[in-house]
Amino acid sequence: MSEISERLAALSPSETLAMSQKSDELKAQGIDVINLSVGEPDFFTPGFIKEAARKAIDENFSFYSPVPGYLSLRQAIVAKLKRENNLDYQPGQIVCSNGAKQSVCNVLLSVVGPGDEVIVPAPYWVSYVEMVKLAEGKNVIVTAGIEQDFKITPGQLEAAITPRTKALILCSPSNPTGSVYSQAELKGLADVLAHYPRITIISDEIYEHINYAGKHESIAQFDSIRDRVVIINGVSKGYAMTGWRLGWIAAPQWIASACNKLQGQYTSGPSSITQKAAEAAYNGPQDCVETMRQAFERRRDLMVQLGNDIPGFQVNRPQGAFYLFPDCSYYIGKSFNGKKMTHSADLALFLLEEAHVAAVGGVAFGAPGCIRFSYATADEKLVEAMRRVKVALAGLG
Ligand code: PMP
Ligand code: GLU
Repeated sequence: MSEISERLAALSPSETLAMSQKSDELKAQGIDVINLSVGEPDFFTPGFIKEAARKAIDENFSFYSPVPGYLSLRQAIVAKLKRENNLDYQPGQIVCSNGAKQSVCNVLLSVVGPGDEVIVPAPYWVSYVEMVKLAEGKNVIVTAGIEQDFKITPGQLEAAITPRTKALILCSPSNPTGSVYSQAELKGLADVLAHYPRITIISDEIYEHINYAGKHESIAQFDSIRDRVVIINGVSKGYAMTGWRLGWIAAPQWIASACNKLQGQYTSGPSSITQKAAEAAYNGPQDCVETMRQAFERRRDLMVQLGNDIPGFQVNRPQGAFYLFPDCSYYIGKSFNGKKMTHSADLALFLLEEAHVAAVGGVAFGAPGCIRFSYATADEKLVEAMRRVKVALAGLG
């Protein structure tokens, strides 16, 4: 008998990874696909970080590390939090994991139990809602459309809170919208949360360094809620290290201890070599981060221009991350060769097959009228991809 558990049967596969895989399959058949689906920097990891990894191998960092990561790495993260965010943490409050993905999941599994409600603002990153399901919690979706720049208001947050609310997941800069909450907007949310001491605030700041709005603002800066905020961050995006797998939390001690316990039974600490590379990333020169950020900003400007040039697309101006998330409801309901586009996932498939451009339909992000293009790729490819998209969409009737 081959029957998977109910828990796993209820889980949807990651749409971002699935679209990227489809794109790779077509490429393997010799088709010239431009992949704007998966969100990862196209830059190589900076040289001094790679050098630190080589040195770690030569110096025999080949043994198990402590479960939450080497103390020296956690100290480097504590120093980063002070230097860049003016936040005070102790190394015991930091837990390093195999990517920020595991960090989010650790926290949800540590805090959320059967029937607990988790408020997830939509559009959301695909994995949040699936992880909540894994923890047997209940997703409470609060929707913010393009007319409010995809950001929820304090009133919306307050209306969604019930006695069963256990956590809120906030993502700024946001995947998939690129929206960034200002300090004043975060304060508005913090003022509401201050009245509900039972709620843990999970603040996903993995795109911290890819910010066009100015200084990064963390909701952990507000004293009224500070002892309930878990910061999620890591080296994947800002340091172009997606494959190395290193994410971390900065959390209240009880949550850090819980994640440590969970991880100790589940994965142990992350790769020793990767940890030494991440330590170098945080302690080393930071100009590589700014150089990549500037390239993303230039591409943001280009993509907004290209997106605005497509009839029927409604485009916001992302303030961070590397995604354009146009509302393309105009095309929903139209058809191609007798096949109707019932939502944006159909549209994404159509674009893959007809334009050979891989994007991700907004359905997986809780926004069925939108579609996500990752612009973490060369300018020429972006121009060509959006040209193809425009031509293909014009063929819908
Ligand atoms: N949070 C968000 C919003 C993301 O986009 C990603 C990218 N996959 C992650 C977390 C996880 O990042 P990591 O590669 O560190 O697991
Ligand atoms: N966060 C990236 C994305 O949204 C990477 C893929 C994933 O882990 O989902 O495309």
